[in-house]
Amino acid sequence: MNIERARKILSTETGSPEELMQTPDALWIYAGKNGEPHAVLTSGKHSDGYINTNAVLKFTNLCEILAGQLIAALGQRGIIMKQIDAVVSSSFAAITFGQEVARQLKTLFVFTEKVGGEQKWGGRFELPAGAKILQVEELITTTHTTRKVKKAVLDSNPQVEFLGINGKTVVVTIVYRPEDLSKEDPEFEVIALIPKEIHIWDPDKCPLCKKDSPALKPKPNWQRFIEHR
Ligand SMILES: [Zn+2]
Repeated sequence: MNIERARKILSTETGSPEELMQTPDALWIYAGKNGEPHAVLTSGKHSDGYINTNAVLKFTNLCEILAGQLIAALGQRGIIMKQIDAVVSSSFAAITFGQEVARQLKTLFVFTEKVGGEQKWGGRFELPAGAKILQVEELITTTHTTRKVKKAVLDSNPQVEFLGINGKTVVVTIVYRPEDLSKEDPEFEVIALIPKEIHIWDPDKCPLCKKDSPALKPKPNWQRFIEHR
C-alpha cells in the first residue's frame, strides 16, 4: 500500500465493520464464486478466510470507528458506560484497540503482558477495589487467551470484578471466528462486530481444493482474492 492510499483510508469515516476491515485489505471470506481462490496459511493449512487485524488497527481512525461501533453493540445488550470502570486487553495486538474503547468509555485501561507465550499480570498497574472490568480483544478464535487474561487479572487483583451478563463474563471483540458459531462458550458471552465461522483444513482434507478452487497465499495474490467480492 502506498502513502496516497493510506492517506485516503485515513480520511474514510463511515462503513459497516466488514467494509472498514475490507478497505485496508484486512479481511477476506470465501464467497464460493466461480474461480475464487482459497487461502494457504503460513502454517501450510488451507482456509476459507483470511483476517489481518493489524492491517486495520494501524489506521487510528478505523480503530476509533470500530471501538464506537462495539460500544453501541454493548448498549444494545443493555450495558452502559457507567457500569464499567476499567478495560483490560491482552498483549500485544489488542492494546491499541482496548485503549481506544477505554478512551471512548471514559474508563481506566490496563493490559496483561505476554511472557513466554502466556498472558501474565505484569504488576505495572493498580486497579481500584470493586472496579468493574470489561474485557476487550481485537480477534478471538477460541476463548483460550480470554480465559488466561481473566485469570491473570483476578489472581493478582482479587478486589475487582468482571462485567457479566446471563451469568457469563462479557468479552467484546472486532472479529470472533470460531469453527462453529452455534457452540456457546460456557464461560464467556462474546460480543463481536464480525462473528464469522472460519475453517482450517489440512491440504489433503481441504473441501475447497476438491471444488477446484485454487489454493493460494493471500498476500502475494491479493487481487485474485478480492476481485470476487
Ligand atoms: Zn485447499
